[in-house]
Amino acid sequence: MPLILEGKKVADAVYSNLSLEISLLPFIPKLVFLVAGENAASQTYVRAKAKKCEALGLRSETLVFPQSVSASDLVAKIRQLNEDRDVHGMLVQLPLPSHLSKHSVLWEINPLKDVDGLHPDNAGRLAYGEPRFIPCTPAGILEMLKHYKIQIEGAKAVVVGRSEIVGKPLAQCLLMHNATVTLCHSKTRSLEQECRSADILVVAMDKAKFVGPSFVKEGAAVIDVGIHREGERLVGDVDFEKVSEKVAAISPVPGGVGPMTIAMLMKNLAAAASLQSTITAGKKKLHS
Ligand code: NAP
Repeated sequence: MPLILEGKKVADAVYSNLSLEISLLPFIPKLVFLVAGENAASQTYVRAKAKKCEALGLRSETLVFPQSVSASDLVAKIRQLNEDRDVHGMLVQLPLPSHLSKHSVLWEINPLKDVDGLHPDNAGRLAYGEPRFIPCTPAGILEMLKHYKIQIEGAKAVVVGRSEIVGKPLAQCLLMHNATVTLCHSKTRSLEQECRSADILVVAMDKAKFVGPSFVKEGAAVIDVGIHREGERLVGDVDFEKVSEKVAAISPVPGGVGPMTIAMLMKNLAAAASLQSTITAGKKKLHS
């Protein structure tokens, strides 16, 4: 049996450290979710995140906009929240309705409140190896690898999927930790062969059970980011049962990367609140 990378357990460890961190803040951090449209999955994800805020004693507010919301209305709200000192983090739930440009909305968020780490300022810092807020899913994968002491330095890491929210920032994270990284996508030649060379294989391609045993090297660590509903159950991008027989470690779906993503959002919120508090204290000192 391989080592099962139980995100839920790792997330619980993150929460127990975080509770102390939060209790030391001079205020209760607040996170605002902006949801545009009626995407059922988005609403479920936001509810789960808001519930976790509540469980940790953090404040959250969910602002729901109609499917037809204009870019200017959404941007006006973001600008208002940027100025609101009682709001410490903001998360625009993706995907946005198709008439809205994701970048023109996300790039309006104050980078210090960008707890999803998608603003170019935060993405750039990560690319330079000096991250402020790392997007939650890659941050969670990194935390999980560290928790289970999976050697990143010197490892051959293959990431399948180059989205701005998972694949690209994850490749940067692994590089920052001295892995040799290959980033694959839909135009990659010999995907199977690339994957089979990996000591650490991360699959974020949004294709249910696409990765089977022929894609993995004996003894590899496999992280499955995908989430798909298959009848009553959830499955990932990896064929868990078959791949498990061949690898040394594997993350399950559900209970793997998903809980880590939420834990890292909470961690980013606490970090954002702490950063803003330090900046405000610094400004007060300057003016006193
Ligand atoms: P995405 O934006 O749809 O990106 C998919 C990536 O996979 C793209 O880069 C695409 O390549 C690549 N791809 C698609 N088919 C491929 C193929 N046949 N061969 C090689 N590469 C292929 O997806 P995402 O937002 O990164 O999410 C990926 C999956 O993770 C989804 O199932 C999503 O629901 C899940 N997810 C889970 C969590 C969590 O917390 N557990 C968080 C985020 C996402 P191109 O760029 O060339 O099109």
